[in-house]
Amino acid sequence: MNIKFLGGAGTVTGSKYLITHENQRVLVDCGLYQGVKKLRLRNRGGFPIDPKTINAVILTHAHIDHSGYVPALRKNGFKGPVYCTKGTYDLCKILLPDSGYLQEEDARYANKKKFSRHSPALPLYTEKDAIESLKLFKPVQYHKPLDVANQITATFTPVGHILGSAAVQISAGGKTITFSGDVGRTEDLVMRPPEPLSETDYLVVESTYGNRRHDETDPFEFFKNIINKTMERGGIVLLPSFAVGRAQTILYIIQLLKERNEIPDVPVYLNSPMAITATEIYCNHHKEHRLTAEECEKIDKDTHFVRTPEESIELNNRKYPSIIISASGMASGGWVLHHLKALLPNHRNSVVFVGFQAPGTRGDAMVNGAEQVKIHGAYHPVRAEVSQIDSLSAHGDYVEILDWLDQSNINPKQVFVTHGEPVASDSMRLKLEEKFGWKVEVPDYGEEFNL
Ligand SMILES: [Zn+2]
Repeated sequence: MNIKFLGGAGTVTGSKYLITHENQRVLVDCGLYQGVKKLRLRNRGGFPIDPKTINAVILTHAHIDHSGYVPALRKNGFKGPVYCTKGTYDLCKILLPDSGYLQEEDARYANKKKFSRHSPALPLYTEKDAIESLKLFKPVQYHKPLDVANQITATFTPVGHILGSAAVQISAGGKTITFSGDVGRTEDLVMRPPEPLSETDYLVVESTYGNRRHDETDPFEFFKNIINKTMERGGIVLLPSFAVGRAQTILYIIQLLKERNEIPDVPVYLNSPMAITATEIYCNHHKEHRLTAEECEKIDKDTHFVRTPEESIELNNRKYPSIIISASGMASGGWVLHHLKALLPNHRNSVVFVGFQAPGTRGDAMVNGAEQVKIHGAYHPVRAEVSQIDSLSAHGDYVEILDWLDQSNINPKQVFVTHGEPVASDSMRLKLEEKFGWKVEVPDYGEEFNL
């Protein structure tokens, strides 16, 4: 067996790990590069091996940095099955077409501004390409070993990161290699903790938080405070949020605070078509996480789902206190921009960012105290109260991951640390060596190893 690192090495995006055994090739994760331009250009660079020669793709979960290259792989000749859990498949049904739509938007924008080196600029793939690629998907069950290629089997186990997320153990030629995927939290409000791994010869483990710990802000206290303060001022609380996972956690927190009478019974608006669909998908799969059918029903009853741009615009004119959850999470696009324009200039309102804000985004500028932000070509004063909570991350930090591996009671011959910025991955390497005495490697992009 041979492994080649085609992404997720030296960075947290673009995850792609190629396993070759005899003449068979299986690609574990097929993610898009995101973030800085140098990495994004790799999406365009063509695939390092002929996609026609890959027998199957396996996805650990639906996030675009793990699934978003599937439509491009298919466009370039890949015809095999894409194996993933049912939850991942359902989320990919909304995330991949949206990714195609965004690629088309970018190309349209580049053509309008004429800044592309290619004329005309073409999308990496379209919404239609993404919908076509979904036909290759074959949803599988957790815990059931599955033949994914000749003499190669794969087994998925829950890993608590988002709905459908899995660690995957590949077995070929009498050897096993386990991919952690993105690992969830020990104590998440919605997802259950990651399940311990089975014995494995080799391990590939993520390191997003390889050198950091999460802050321990109690989300209930945090939201109780900010919501009550804003309601007393007669203002609106705006929560720019990621549509999948984070929005559902916030709805759940608000629901519980209302039930405990810790905040007033104000209207809650979920204003993002993708977050609405994601909430429905989470509720359809309620057996896979901590939210019960009853809790889902309560959230459904208590939330106003905003489905049209007219309703969305109308929300800004309300004269009574309310809570609005809208995408995108870093205020880089989406319907949340219209709310920001309307709500930022008034000191009565609050804007709460509920996760990491990438450098260069409007969210980052606002949490760092920007006095004005540019939206749709014009500057808007920031007078609303801006705050941020960082403790709702969907990634375990290094202490949580080390505990999980400790509970797994495994003894791999070699470990590969991936999916981290270089400093984080190296810090994770040292911690694994120190705690377990394992042989640990941080692979470079394009590096391969015979196992
Ligand atoms: Zn992820």
